[in-house]
Amino acid sequence: MANPLVIDTDTHVFEPLEHFDRYLPELYKHRSPRVFRDQWGIIRVLMEGRLYPDPSITVYEAHEKLRGQDNGGCTHDHNAHAGNVHGQADHHQHGNDGETGLIEGVAMAMGRPGVTDPKARVADLAQEGIDIQIVFGSLCFAACTLHDLDFALAFCRGCNDYVAEFCSSAPDKFKAVSVVPLQDVPAAIAEMRRTVKDLGVVGVSIPPSLPGKNLDHPDFYPFYAEAQALNLAVGIHWGNGTYLPGAGTERFQKHFYNHVVGHPFEQMLALTSIVCGGILERFPELRFGFLESGCGWVTYWMWRLDEEYRCRSLEVPRMKDKPSEYLKRGNCFFGCSPDESLIPSVVSTAGAGSIVFSSDYPHTDGSFPNTVRTIRDRLDLSDDVKNKILGDNAARFFGLG
Ligand SMILES: [Zn+2]
Repeated sequence: MANPLVIDTDTHVFEPLEHFDRYLPELYKHRSPRVFRDQWGIIRVLMEGRLYPDPSITVYEAHEKLRGQDNGGCTHDHNAHAGNVHGQADHHQHGNDGETGLIEGVAMAMGRPGVTDPKARVADLAQEGIDIQIVFGSLCFAACTLHDLDFALAFCRGCNDYVAEFCSSAPDKFKAVSVVPLQDVPAAIAEMRRTVKDLGVVGVSIPPSLPGKNLDHPDFYPFYAEAQALNLAVGIHWGNGTYLPGAGTERFQKHFYNHVVGHPFEQMLALTSIVCGGILERFPELRFGFLESGCGWVTYWMWRLDEEYRCRSLEVPRMKDKPSEYLKRGNCFFGCSPDESLIPSVVSTAGAGSIVFSSDYPHTDGSFPNTVRTIRDRLDLSDDVKNKILGDNAARFFGLG
């Protein structure tokens, strides 16, 4: 029997910031993101008068510690999607000449030329045994915090055009996900339609919340209605350092804490809003993916939500069933890391149909070139479950054949 498709549900490219103006209309070319180094040598992006990643999240101690040291082969996390942008800036501005290229204080060690080179990326897919990558951008996660609505739409269009262009180089292997300015719902709907119709995207990315609004806010109903009508996957993805709300991060100043706390706690809050705020009740065909936070938290959070519902269901009238039941209906998907010990637990609670494989390529969070093998070699998952996680579930989530 042929191996089933392997679909990697959370991967990234870096927008070409040093010439992003190419992707902006004439009116906004002069507002294209500016890239430079700060006083610690860390590359920052200036846009709308703000720096990305947010410089109040400090990393300079690590930067100073690493400066001058041989960081070859470092596999530390750098993450922070805004930070990832720096990698590309470094690559282009310095010719990838062997300079360490520090991102958020940690050795860049990006390693994979597939960050910007589609051909190299295809080779990496072959080495991993991945058939399809779902491709997100990086700085694009800043879209929903931009203040100028017209610029936010232009920025989204530029990001989406770039990602689609990248994916068009190998359209059977790369499937694009778009970003939309959700702070401006009519514009978000228009851009979502455009990216489906003109660019062939397989999903739309939204943040776990917007400043002042959770995902169950009625303002977003028309957006969900349209996504459901388009049969489009909705991926929920946070971006550290992008000025999006970050649960608990107001208590910390260092990237380590912001990153380790922000991603999973924001996903828990997003899931709470979508389930308990009645979004899955109102839009029963809509499919959501909760990404870049592992999946182990799901078991605990299902129990926690059910427990609360048992005592206080009258306070959440938009939800007609207990929370865990919504998660078993087959339209919520959780990105796992291949080495997560709690995958079997999530299989037994949310179901084997709810977990999707994600490598986070090309981020050093991942374990290239062993991400697929890590799943395949596990002794605590059946072959059937592995096939679901590696491809079947993602095919259902993104509507791929
Ligand atoms: Zn990601």
